[in-house]
Amino acid sequence: RILLEVKNLHAGIDGNSILKGVNLTIYEGEIHAIMGRNGSGKSTLAKIIAGHSSYEISEGEILLESESITSLEPEERSNKGLFLGFQYPVEVAGVKNIDFLRAAVNARRKELKESELDTFEFDEIVNNTLGIVQMNKDFLERGVNQGFSGGEKKRNEILQMALLKPIVSILDETDSGLDIDALRIISNGINKIHSKNKATILITHYQRLLNEIKPDYVHVMKDGKIIKTGTKELAIALEKSGYEGLEQVET
Ligand code: ADP
Ligand code: MG
Ligand code: MG
Repeated sequence: RILLEVKNLHAGIDGNSILKGVNLTIYEGEIHAIMGRNGSGKSTLAKIIAGHSSYEISEGEILLESESITSLEPEERSNKGLFLGFQYPVEVAGVKNIDFLRAAVNARRKELKESELDTFEFDEIVNNTLGIVQMNKDFLERGVNQGFSGGEKKRNEILQMALLKPIVSILDETDSGLDIDALRIISNGINKIHSKNKATILITHYQRLLNEIKPDYVHVMKDGKIIKTGTKELAIALEKSGYEGLEQVET
């Protein structure tokens, strides 16, 4: 069963084209890695799949579980089971982390026609989930990401992902800026959340993340297109010879 399909996606901003025909088909249970030089369009692809409003789609479509989501609002996509982890998670002052998490989970539950969780029910679920990212309860009482270190923000994001139970998760450089211990905690969390009825997309620069989370496919983007698809050996080859080596083979 196909969970996410990106068909001939062309998109840009202020008349400049960034994505120039991206095709991606992701089946349930799969983990895909997207690599590529800075500026190749990886984050733009993630943001457009999530429904970021600043970009214009000129051609193509995006399907989640065979349903077009191309014109849906980001919240609607999220409620339908799409999760995007940002490279730089935002801080939200004045909103308690646990309240934010509960609101997001209840919005998703509404879409699934499940009952709304009250604070007691939600506390219990959160307490049973914190272990996935080895997070301390104190972080729940603080403002969303407020004063969190880089690693704590990433853990919070994975906690959010664990609670939301998305169908398709896209993690944009979740490994950036993490030390080795934090990388392992985050990777373990992602591996625990991933399952045979979900799909996970990892955008990363580094092979080291892919040692922890084994991708089924590795795609390389260049100038708004996927120029090569392979298995994890492709990521290993890239680590050795760089993108230049790959491009020489291609041309
Ligand atoms: P990557 O994530 O692969 O490093 P991005 O998707 O962030 O690449 O960027 C791809 C290209 O699109 C870059 O040339 C970047 O400058 C441009 N771009 C992305 N977002 C914007 C924006 N909001 N305004 C103008 N240009 C943008
Ligand atoms: Mg990026
Ligand atoms: Mg698993």
